[in-house]
Amino acid sequence: MSVQELVLKQRTEILHALCSSGSAEHLEQVLDVLLAEEELSWEEYQNVQVPGRALYTNARQLLDLVYTKGVDTCGLFLAALKQVLPEAKGVGFSLTGCRSSLEGKEEYQSTSSQTLLTQRPSLVRELQGCTDGALQALLISGLFTTADCDDVRLPIHTPSQQARRLLDHVRSKGESAAKTLLQYIQQKQESGSTPTQEKPTPPKEFVKYQKKLSSSVSAQSCFLSTYGGTSHMSLDDIYTEGQLELGHDCADAHGSLGLEDIVGTAGTVNEEADTVLVSGEAGSGKSTLLQRLHLLWARGTALQDFLLLFPFSCRRLNSEQRELSVQELLFQHCCWPDREQEEIFQFILDHPHLILFTFDGLDELKQSFSDEHRLCCPTQRAPVHVLLFNLIQGSLMKGVRKVVTSRPEAVGPLLKKHLRKEVFLKGFSPSGIDCFVKKHHSDPAVAAKVLGSLQTNTALLGLCHSPVLCWIVSQCHKELLGCGEGSPQTITDVYLMILQHFLQRQSSQGSTAGSGWLHEHLQTVLHLGQLAFELIGTTCYIFSGADLETCGVTEKDISMGFLIQSKDMSSTRSKRYEFLHVTLQCFFAALYIVLSNNTDRSTIPKLFELKDLKETGLSSACFGSCLPSTYQQEGEATAAETPNLQITATFVSGLLSQRHQSLWLHCCPSAVMEKRVRQVVRCLSKGMQKHFKSIPQPVEGEKKSMHAMPGFVWLIKCIYEMQESRIAKDAMSKLEVDHLKLTYCNIGPVECTALAYVLQHLKNPVGLQLDNNSVGDVGVEQLLPCMHICNSLYLRNNNITDEGIRKLIAKGIQCDNFRKIALFNNQLTDACTQHFSHLLKTKQNFLALRLGNNNITAEGAKQLAEGLKFNHSLQYLGLWGNKIGDAGAEALAQVLESSNTLVWLSLAGNGVGSRGARALANIIKNSASLEEIWLIENCITRAGVECLIQALEHNTHVKSICLRNNDLTPEEVEEMTQRESRLIF
Ligand code: ADP
Repeated sequence: MSVQELVLKQRTEILHALCSSGSAEHLEQVLDVLLAEEELSWEEYQNVQVPGRALYTNARQLLDLVYTKGVDTCGLFLAALKQVLPEAKGVGFSLTGCRSSLEGKEEYQSTSSQTLLTQRPSLVRELQGCTDGALQALLISGLFTTADCDDVRLPIHTPSQQARRLLDHVRSKGESAAKTLLQYIQQKQESGSTPTQEKPTPPKEFVKYQKKLSSSVSAQSCFLSTYGGTSHMSLDDIYTEGQLELGHDCADAHGSLGLEDIVGTAGTVNEEADTVLVSGEAGSGKSTLLQRLHLLWARGTALQDFLLLFPFSCRRLNSEQRELSVQELLFQHCCWPDREQEEIFQFILDHPHLILFTFDGLDELKQSFSDEHRLCCPTQRAPVHVLLFNLIQGSLMKGVRKVVTSRPEAVGPLLKKHLRKEVFLKGFSPSGIDCFVKKHHSDPAVAAKVLGSLQTNTALLGLCHSPVLCWIVSQCHKELLGCGEGSPQTITDVYLMILQHFLQRQSSQGSTAGSGWLHEHLQTVLHLGQLAFELIGTTCYIFSGADLETCGVTEKDISMGFLIQSKDMSSTRSKRYEFLHVTLQCFFAALYIVLSNNTDRSTIPKLFELKDLKETGLSSACFGSCLPSTYQQEGEATAAETPNLQITATFVSGLLSQRHQSLWLHCCPSAVMEKRVRQVVRCLSKGMQKHFKSIPQPVEGEKKSMHAMPGFVWLIKCIYEMQESRIAKDAMSKLEVDHLKLTYCNIGPVECTALAYVLQHLKNPVGLQLDNNSVGDVGVEQLLPCMHICNSLYLRNNNITDEGIRKLIAKGIQCDNFRKIALFNNQLTDACTQHFSHLLKTKQNFLALRLGNNNITAEGAKQLAEGLKFNHSLQYLGLWGNKIGDAGAEALAQVLESSNTLVWLSLAGNGVGSRGARALANIIKNSASLEEIWLIENCITRAGVECLIQALEHNTHVKSICLRNNDLTPEEVEEMTQRESRLIF
């Protein structure tokens, strides 16, 4: 096929590769190359690159042009594409046949203007970060006017676009401008400073402002608010690293991330975007992480590439009613400059890459993200959410880095389009829990006791992965250590523990014996409950004095410590309050739903259907003012509200559990309670039914499979909170599937506990697919109670180590149904292979072991071989992407050659050479069952393949041996394919 045909045939794929990121950068880079190669004239370039026209239209124009220009241009175009998008192979089109490299022009041409053209791609790179300096030089030489400079610096452009505009302007000014620019760049290079590292000297007032801002940020961030009421706990004393991860499909997803990596390059998916998203569940530590970043910056110990850091809380921005400009937003909400506001703001505009904005809790903003209302002028006023959305997209203050936190539910595809990268905060690791508890308790004996009691209660240990629960558990250590048998199991138990702790701490008579403590403080609970309930459905998390009054909240209620005074950097307002944590607000809302006489009968059903609670007939003064009518959807909760309503519903389930019945005695008539319990049970059952109804009938010959829809895991958690096996049994009795798929469902240890509790009641064994979650070793342990019902367990990409495997296998061996496991992409080493070896020896009905992409070497392979020696059942063995080498392949081959069951073997990407291939040939010679072998991406040479061919002569069972990407020349590949059609290259 000629290159011209190639361009035509792959048009859709090329367009996708160039434009799908939404950024014009790839297209512009290709144009740079074509201009430099003089393959496009200046006029042609301008016809393609029409500012303001849709990106796809520009790209199509280029493809049309290139095609009509003929074979040479098409060849060059494909070569340019290959240079700009080296990974384009993976995008789905082939670049074979295109020129492998571009010729590159002589370094310097006869005129400077020509040099600007022929060196355009490298000049665009060099000028990024030093356009200011270059413009200064051109201004001083009188070749540029200030209007020219402003035009280049338009903030809607990315740094590379600014560099291109600069080059285009210089070109239009003629030879002397081109000469001046080249001289400037040469000087920069000679002075040794790479232009991108250029740091300007800020004006004096700016430096003063910087000091004022950093001392204000430092003061705001040095204490942790959850400790406000009790003791002042400094962040330094308590901060514990949480687990930060990149997306699973990210190329550099491996290894742990540090705080500074949040703004670093790792995991970048869109170079042109400025916004980094940190996502995590409620209580996973997002606000605390930002607080830590703020403090480190203010102290000068991190993020020192940024001269200014502006911290915002979306919760607080909700109450800003005025329209503001960006300048007003920065100065009024973060820190007021004493003098020279304009000069300071101009410096910010001129040096966006030296500025960092953080926005905490995007999910708490009343409005959902939208990119409809575009704004690009930093002095134009707009409602705060419009400013925020434009900042996030980069249409405002392009180049300023922004870090945004949110719960995952509130992040839609619209927002994802504008993200530089996404980082997931997964709470504490097992050692993090240990470290946190030790920091929390200065007395090592107490810390040891708390940790000891956690070790004996794995459900509670699982919960402690969530920092907010870890905090509660530590905070309530006296209650925890004193409760013996009844130690907390569920999230509701943990929150009841803190409720009791706070109420009794304030109690004048000391603690009330038995369950009377709730009755004693019922009024406080109802006041705070009403406040929480009325405002939770309206995305209101900050309460005014008037709100408190409406709900009857008294000074005494406030003094209990559940409410804290809202911090506000611009605080000139009267006192405002918020709950210690949003989950505590949900808990109080749930208490109100359970205990109050004033709630409507439909409250519980509506809550479980996630309908807006304002429909329940409770008229509240706040509803109208908190939720602008344009954002009210027909009875349905918005994306931002849903997680809070879900958490509230989970608490309602937990509070109505039989186990807590004695608490409600004297607080609420038992008939009312019983009715509410029945309502919840009915809602859970109905909710489950809805999910089961969505299961499609299986295609003939395939298994019946259920792919969990959003909300399924939440219902499972509600059932767990009730702790009544009757309900779990009932729910599972109606689920008839062979395969349960729960991939990408944010499943961590807490969810594993609930899943195991419910799934253990399944009637028939299932394949449980939990790929791409955060199960981890603790989650694995939580899953053990349902192992007997799993015939296959898929745990790809789940951060599991050898320790998790040890526990899993110890249990798996006892489970007759358990026959298949997939552990691709975890953190397994040779240390886990002894357990698998034991499993293989012991379980003579085990069918599939897949351990791809871990760290297993020849030693591990030898261990596995030991087990395989005694196994007579294994059909699938997958070790793709480990490091077993020739020695490992030999060890496996030696035992597998006598296997009568093995059907499929993968040793792809394992550093296997011809020695290994020779050994594997013996399996082929002797096996009567093997059908497929994967050996791609190894280093097998001709000699090794010869052995495989010879072996195949004696074997008719083997259907294919995949050998792509080994050490063979194209001629050898051709020849081998001719000789043996079962070899696939
Ligand atoms: P989120 O913003 O994700 O809802 P928070 O940051 O508010 O979670 O965390 C809730 C509570 O958990 C904090 O108030 C604190 O007590 C505890 N916590 C969270 N992260 C950490 C951490 N890294 N180190 C110590 N405590 C933490």
